[in-house]
Amino acid sequence: MAETEHDNAVIVGWENHPFYQNVVHILERAGQTVDLDFNVFERLCRPRRCLYVSVPVRMDDGTIRVFDGFRVHHNTTLGPAKGGIRYHPEVNLAETAALAMLMTLKNSLVRLPLGGGKGGIRCDPGLLSRREKQSLTRRFTSEIFTFIGPDKDIPAPDIGTDQQTMAWVMDTYSSQVGYAVPGVVTGKPIEIGGSLGRVDATGRGVVYTIIEASKRLGMALDQSTTVAVQGFGNVGFHSARLISNIGCKLVAASDVSGGVYSPKGLDIIALQKWIAEHRVLKGYPEGEYVTNEELLELPVDILIPAALGNQITTKNVDKIKCKILAEGANGPTTLEASQILSSRGVFTIPDILANAGGVIVSYFEWVQGMQNFFWSEKDVNNKLWEIIAGAFNRTYEFHSTKKIDMRLSAFAVSVEHLSKAMLWRGFFP
Ligand code: NAD
Repeated sequence: MAETEHDNAVIVGWENHPFYQNVVHILERAGQTVDLDFNVFERLCRPRRCLYVSVPVRMDDGTIRVFDGFRVHHNTTLGPAKGGIRYHPEVNLAETAALAMLMTLKNSLVRLPLGGGKGGIRCDPGLLSRREKQSLTRRFTSEIFTFIGPDKDIPAPDIGTDQQTMAWVMDTYSSQVGYAVPGVVTGKPIEIGGSLGRVDATGRGVVYTIIEASKRLGMALDQSTTVAVQGFGNVGFHSARLISNIGCKLVAASDVSGGVYSPKGLDIIALQKWIAEHRVLKGYPEGEYVTNEELLELPVDILIPAALGNQITTKNVDKIKCKILAEGANGPTTLEASQILSSRGVFTIPDILANAGGVIVSYFEWVQGMQNFFWSEKDVNNKLWEIIAGAFNRTYEFHSTKKIDMRLSAFAVSVEHLSKAMLWRGFFP
């Protein structure tokens, strides 16, 4: 089967899926550096359980359309499954399972008492009305009702979903049990139990890890530091906003419609306003148009991929010119490409570290909701910094003492911790 056909199949085995295999391959290589128990590796190569659901929706024109949805629990040794719900036309089972595996490893790396999960619906949210999106979300929640819950599996936003989506999930779940259950999702609006600081937490974490990296590399972060961001959604926008706030210059940004490049610097608020009015970046009057591929190849100091996976591969790695690659997105770089970048001296802050801010503050939201005691935004941001800087330091120490690249180091540090927990609990029977 051709690679593209494979990528587009709804239910594909993860055994042959390129993105899934890439994550397994990284895990295998990282596992070798910490002498990972073979049985632990065998178990981690597969998701614990996967749920497929078909989701019928009455569209605005009166017809019924059936969408394909998934929820995967990859591993729940450390706690309830935790991970986003993605609405995107390319969602499939193998991709969802690979993303769930990344969540397991991310949560273990930052030492949260949470396992890894992920979900998604294969749809184009840009083509759905608000009413259609609400129906889709509520029916999907009903279909996965037995699979989720504050002690079992706690979804959050991802590509194509936001705090409104989470509010619909929470309301549907709560209606079925008969009382409000804020702990069933994170990334909720503040008024129904969301946490201050959650909306920009992933972008904030990306920027905190860039600051930590710059200290280790002795690199200044100021007006001479140029930044390009692929994807101008939640993660991309807040990464761009916060890195500009500390003095760096955003010179390029993109979304699904393409990108814009201006060596003089871009006005982030004007970009946001343009997208709010026109839905996409295309047509933005300042700077020159660049494709998403061209954006990745621009001569910038810091590159932040914050859209989809598999963006930097052996096909374009030779054209990547950044000094720091901070992976806001999940799985934007293949292992081979990552190793080439590392050998060229590009400093990578891998996805499970760079974008962990979202799940860290989701964890804070869950804890606050369970205790009905809410923290200030300053407290949230300070605790986020403490946890993500701790994970950065553990990874960096491993990287510098073992002379292993940052991606394998992050996976190694993570799987070493998880493996101890799995071995304590043991395999049943
Ligand atoms: P989002 O839906 O808010 O934004 C996604 C952005 O990517 C949009 O600007 C969209 O136009 C763009 N995009 C979509 N398809 C594209 C394509 N083919 N080429 C280029 N751009 C494209 O999503 P988000 O929540 O910002 O998530 C972005 C990435 O960050 C994903 O990989 C997600 O898994 C990861 N992530 C998100 C969070 C979070 O808290 N939201 C946490 C950790 C990781």
